[in-house]
Amino acid sequence: MRVICHYFSFDDVFQCSNGHLMCAGCFTHLLADARLRDEVSTCPNCRIEISKTSASRNLAVEKAVSELPSECQYCGKEFPRNSLERHEELLCEERITNCKFSRIGCPWRGPFHEETEHEVACVHPNRSGAEVMDALQEIDLKCEEEKRLYDCVFDLLSYEKITFNDLQMKPYRTDEFVHKLFYETSRFSAFNNQWVVKSRINNSQRDPTQSFNRNITYQVKLDHELILKTKTTYPLALHYLILRGPFGDMKVSSKIYKFDFTDQDNESPYVQLPLPDTAECNRLLAAKAINFRLIMFLASK
Ligand SMILES: [Zn+2]
Ligand SMILES: [Zn+2]
Ligand SMILES: [Zn+2]
Ligand SMILES: [Zn+2]
Repeated sequence: MRVICHYFSFDDVFQCSNGHLMCAGCFTHLLADARLRDEVSTCPNCRIEISKTSASRNLAVEKAVSELPSECQYCGKEFPRNSLERHEELLCEERITNCKFSRIGCPWRGPFHEETEHEVACVHPNRSGAEVMDALQEIDLKCEEEKRLYDCVFDLLSYEKITFNDLQMKPYRTDEFVHKLFYETSRFSAFNNQWVVKSRINNSQRDPTQSFNRNITYQVKLDHELILKTKTTYPLALHYLILRGPFGDMKVSSKIYKFDFTDQDNESPYVQLPLPDTAECNRLLAAKAINFRLIMFLASK
């Protein structure tokens, strides 16, 4: 099997015990793939077993790679890899910039060395208040959306019943779906009930190992198996939110979901775990377990 590297920019270099090299992105992808297939992860070159503990970093190669010349994506000139990022972000004359009047609607984007010349001639500072209203409204909309999230959080913080649990999701498999990988937490209690959180990888696909892009969806399930002293009155109108928590390192963004649990409907739909990208998803899959904090807000009747 040939491995085509999609990551390239990760700077750590790993090697199998026979010395075959791969970048950090490819290594994580390999571990995640093995987890999805329920196989032992092996080196793509020699098939020897490879894991987080058996693989080692190759510092000599890392150093050599960091000094290799790499091409700037804007000006095409070559720089040592370890200084390229700084060049592209701060120094390159050809890097793409916005006009400083973009906030009042100037759409100009161009190379840094043309920015000053453009801004001197830019017509936007001379437009009337009425003319820049559209641009301002667009910015307002974005801010309002963010504000709605915060308002929602503050509103929820006034609920009588709030609880959080620091949970760990572990992989498991069922016999019916040989190729599919699921994750599940152990049971935890909240609001006099027992719950679990379940998750799936690339929920819409039959075989997630066939696709390069990865996503995780999750659901909250009200577990009825336990007989409880307190009788639950339905529906349970629940808002919930997943955060990184004190034991996790997931780069998850804040998104609040809501579901009304009833005695007929005890599983919320699968919703997106808001992760930045496939690389982050693979990083979580490559780990043994996924740690997170679940905050639950219960509306009182
Ligand atoms: Zn790679
Ligand atoms: Zn090898
Ligand atoms: Zn450049
Ligand atoms: Zn402009």
